[in-house]
Amino acid sequence: MKKHNYSAGPCILPQEVFEKSAQAILNFNDSGLSILEISHRSKDFVAVMDEARALAIELLGLEGKGYQALFLAGGASLEFLMAPYNLMKENGKAAYLDSGTWASAAIKEAKFFGETVIVASSKDENYNHIPKGYTVPVDADYFHCTSNNTIFGTQMKEFPSLDMPIVCDMSSDIFSRVLDFSKFDIIYAGAQKNMGPAGTTLVVIKEEILGKNGRIIPSMLDYAKHIKAESMYNTPPVFPVYASLLTLKWLKNLGGIAAIEKINNEKAALLYAEIDRNPLFKGAAVVEDRSNMNATFLLNDPLHADTFNAMLKEAGIVGLPGHRSVGGYRASMYNALPLESVQVLVDVMAALEKTI
Ligand code: PLP
Repeated sequence: MKKHNYSAGPCILPQEVFEKSAQAILNFNDSGLSILEISHRSKDFVAVMDEARALAIELLGLEGKGYQALFLAGGASLEFLMAPYNLMKENGKAAYLDSGTWASAAIKEAKFFGETVIVASSKDENYNHIPKGYTVPVDADYFHCTSNNTIFGTQMKEFPSLDMPIVCDMSSDIFSRVLDFSKFDIIYAGAQKNMGPAGTTLVVIKEEILGKNGRIIPSMLDYAKHIKAESMYNTPPVFPVYASLLTLKWLKNLGGIAAIEKINNEKAALLYAEIDRNPLFKGAAVVEDRSNMNATFLLNDPLHADTFNAMLKEAGIVGLPGHRSVGGYRASMYNALPLESVQVLVDVMAALEKTI
């Protein structure tokens, strides 16, 4: 039976990525060897890394603008501390927007390096919206925000313009919508949503901001060292990088971010229309901040949960239960989720209404 995978990450990837990855595990580039057994220093893998780095920059529209892309290990969570280590001065200060659990995890790590100013927080309302109307202290070493709050289903639609580096955790909406990516100085994203399997993190850095905070940085945490080594300072996560390259190529063939954004808008519009129309459901996030990647919603009457869950199972829908901090349901509609899967979910929601 066909499955409709709404998992928040790791999650659905394009079918051709699964097929080509499987082929590469058996016989990479007709070499008679598996991608899992070739050297990361081999010509073939260096070409993979180079192409993946260049394609990430190209898709983000950052070619020729002084940016470098890295594929690191350690997850987006390691960037929570690498960013402050590389940017915050001794006795310095960083400004953070607290828009969700992951933003708050980033804040926790930044506190190891200096003063961390929370410019605004939506914690008191269980992060159901993006805080707005805040001011960022002009003497901060950088400003950090989270473009999409995976757990709560909110997404930043606007970003401040500031005279300091802007660091953005784009783990759950990178490559999903057109933005002026040159507004950001560091963008990081764990691969396991819109890019590939878990195991690598894309970090895109405006090179000129590095080397200015006066700290001695341990090698593995030093962005400049990773850039100098062309993202091969140590053995990179070979297979996740390869599968990420396949996804980036798929996106480019589709027409890039602008093309996928149109489809993502259609998917989100279809689902939110049903959440708003169907009297059995309500959205968890405020309407203006709703995420096009993760839609969070609840049953008005939890007594319908058993029937709804059984209907979801029957329709082949998996990965829909919400995160425990919100409850209800979360439909993660990453780039690779087809519109057809959203239609199946919407049909099940409408069918539930008919059973009442
Ligand atoms: N940031 C965001 C927005 C996330 O959604 C996640 C994980 O879901 C993380 C950070 C943490 O990523 P990782 O597990 O790769 O450390």
